[in-house]
Amino acid sequence: APTGRQTYKIALIPGDGIGIEVIHEGKVVLQKLAAKLNTFDLDFEDFEWSSAYYKKHGKYLPDDALAQVKKFNAILFGAVGAPGIVPPLHWNWIARLITKLDVPDHISLWGLRLALCQPLQQYANVRPTRILRGTTSPLRNCKPGDLNWVIVRENSEGEYAGHGGTSHTGEAWSVATETSIFTRHGVERIMRFAFETAKSRPRKKLTVVTKSNAQRNGMVFWDNVATEVAKDFPDVEVDKMLVDAMTTRMVLKPESIDTVVATNLHADILSDLAAALAGSIGIAPTSNLDPTRENPSMFEPIHGSAFDITGKGLANPVATFWTAAEMLRWLGQPEAATLLMESVENVTEAGIKTVDLGGSQKTREVTDAVCTEIQKLA
Ligand code: ATP
Ligand code: MG
Repeated sequence: APTGRQTYKIALIPGDGIGIEVIHEGKVVLQKLAAKLNTFDLDFEDFEWSSAYYKKHGKYLPDDALAQVKKFNAILFGAVGAPGIVPPLHWNWIARLITKLDVPDHISLWGLRLALCQPLQQYANVRPTRILRGTTSPLRNCKPGDLNWVIVRENSEGEYAGHGGTSHTGEAWSVATETSIFTRHGVERIMRFAFETAKSRPRKKLTVVTKSNAQRNGMVFWDNVATEVAKDFPDVEVDKMLVDAMTTRMVLKPESIDTVVATNLHADILSDLAAALAGSIGIAPTSNLDPTRENPSMFEPIHGSAFDITGKGLANPVATFWTAAEMLRWLGQPEAATLLMESVENVTEAGIKTVDLGGSQKTREVTDAVCTEIQKLA
C-alpha cells in the first residue's frame, strides 16, 4: 500500500464448543482495535476445522491444510474437543451410543492441534501468567506484581514425541512404552529461545526445570545443554530446579520466579498450575511460535471447548483477548498489544467480569466493555 501500512492475514480456526464463541469475540475486539488505531489492517479468514468437520469427513484437516495456513501471517485458534458427555452410570446402552458419536480427546489433539504445530515447526510454546488488575489469586497473600511469569514449553519432542508402542495386548504380560525424545537440535533451540525471552524481561532471570535426579539420561542432557547455552547469556541469572520442588515454589514463593523453561510434559503441568494461581483458566493465553518465522505461529487460549458452559454466554473472552494481544506483539504491533491489555484490565478492574472470575457479566458484556475502553484509550 502507498501508506506503507501493513495488512496481516489471520487464519481463524474457532473449532468446537466455547472455542467458536471466544474466537468470535476476539475478532470483534481485534477489528475494533484496527479500526480505531488505523495503523494496520487485519484480513480474517475462517476455517471450519472442528469435531463437526471430523464427523463429516473422518479427519480434522483437509490434505492441503498446511499449504492453506502457510499463506497467513498468524493463526488464531479456539479449542477442539467433542462434548465429553458423561451420562448416569445406569444408562448403559445410551452411554455406549454417545461414546460412539463422540471423538476421543487424543484424536482431536493429534488430529488438529499437533497436526499443525509439528509441521509448522512451532517448537516454542509460550505461556505468560500474571494477575490482571481487578482479579485475585487463590494464593492468600499474592498481590498483582508478585506473580509475573513466562513459562516456555518445549513444544516439539520430549515426552510427547509420540515414540513408543505396545505389545502382547490383552495378555496379562502386555507392555506399553512411551519414550521421551531429547535431541541436541531440539533442546538447544528451546534453551536459546528461553534465554532470549528471559533477557528481554526486566528481571533477566531464568529457571531451568528438570527431573534430573530420577531421569538420568534425557534430563541430565537437558541440564548440560542449559549450562552450555548460559555461557552465551552472561547477563541472565540462571537457576535449576526439580519439577516437584518447582510446584511448591510456585505456590509458596511466586515472587521468586520470572522466566521458566521446561519440557513438553513438565511445562504442560506447570502452566496449568500457573493459570489456576493467576485466577482462572478463563484468562490464560498461549502462543505456539516458530521463532525462525518461516511458518505462521499459532495463538490460542489455553482452555478447552468446555461444553458444560457452551451456548450460555458464560465463556470468559479475556483469555482470547490476551491471546490476541500476544499475537499482535509477535506480528510487530507492540503498541496495539499494550493498548488491548490496558483496555482489558480497565474492564476487569471495573468489576466487569464473567462468573469464573467471580463476576456476573455475560461474554458479550465483557467484549462490549473492552470495545468501549479501546474507543476511549486509542
Ligand atoms: P477440552 O476437553 O476441550 O479440554 P474441557 O471441557 O475439558 O475442554 P477446559 O477448558 O479444560 O474444558 O476447562 C475446564 C472447565 O473450566 C470447563 O469445564 C469450564 O467450566 C471452565 N472454563 C474453561 N474455560 C473457560 C472460560 N473461557 N470461561 C469460563 N469458564 C471456563
Ligand atoms: Mg479438558
